[in-house]
Amino acid sequence: MSKVKYYYDPESLSYRKIERKKRRTFKFALVFFLAAALFGFGIDFIARQYFESPKEKALKRELQNMELQYQLLNKQMSEAEAVLANVADRDNNIYRVYFEANPIPEAQRKAGFGGINRYKDLEGFDNSKLIVESKKRLDILQKQIVVQSKSLDEIAVLAEEKEKLLAAIPAIQPVSNEDLTRMASGYGMRSDPFTKARKMHWGMDFTAPRGTPVYASGDGKVVRADSRATGYGKHIRIDHGFGYVSLYAHLYKYNVRKNQKVKRGDLIGFVGSTGRSQAPHLHYEIFKDKKRINPINFYYGSLTAEEFAKLLEHASLENQSLD
Ligand SMILES: [Zn+2]
Repeated sequence: MSKVKYYYDPESLSYRKIERKKRRTFKFALVFFLAAALFGFGIDFIARQYFESPKEKALKRELQNMELQYQLLNKQMSEAEAVLANVADRDNNIYRVYFEANPIPEAQRKAGFGGINRYKDLEGFDNSKLIVESKKRLDILQKQIVVQSKSLDEIAVLAEEKEKLLAAIPAIQPVSNEDLTRMASGYGMRSDPFTKARKMHWGMDFTAPRGTPVYASGDGKVVRADSRATGYGKHIRIDHGFGYVSLYAHLYKYNVRKNQKVKRGDLIGFVGSTGRSQAPHLHYEIFKDKKRINPINFYYGSLTAEEFAKLLEHASLENQSLD
């Protein structure tokens, strides 16, 4: 028990308790605790600079692992980029060339994203650069895949069109070779069988006996099968699409009707001598965009090289056409 001390207060003329000392002790204690706490925090602060807590260690390991995973992801992205670059290269240099489509420019394939900064929320951290770079690569990769996919869609449509075009082009001889008596006359200046004057012969004449089968030279639709055109007699016109029309004149009989769809090689009629004709033969014409062109250039594939050479020789002779 502490001693209670008194002192005489001359003013109040009485003894009073001395309490000053207790207050001072309290003050000292407070200062001591404050100093101790400050020192403690100081030591803790310094210790934290040099030593890690288990939690920090765990976090650090996690971060390192994440960085490693990012690096692996980037490696995988490089591989994906290489594969895609190879596909894009084949696309530009083979498929698009074959189907006559313009190559997609490199800049368009590899374009990033302009305008606003799409990666703003990823910035401001220690590993921002790694994350932003990876994200950018992935975004470009994704965009490239979309461009590539669209290109292949386009190719698919072109391929289908090309197949139709190849089937539609009037590409075979309308009269079979063994049925021909002789090639009478080709496309070009010929003497008219009736007037003997030189004039343009707009088609090819195939001489064959009356009743010889005549075949459609490509897929298409019969747009005319009548004898209402001057000179042609009984004739058939097939619209092949893509600007191609083929015409078969001086027929003896029809084997198709107007508006009928035909395939290449279908029997459409028979050789005759109707209209302005001297003897039984098939007069054959090809129109491209309403202009008559030389049919000789269209028999590739259906004739052997020898047959084609013979045909070419006969067709270029300046003889008299049968009209
Ligand atoms: Zn003719």
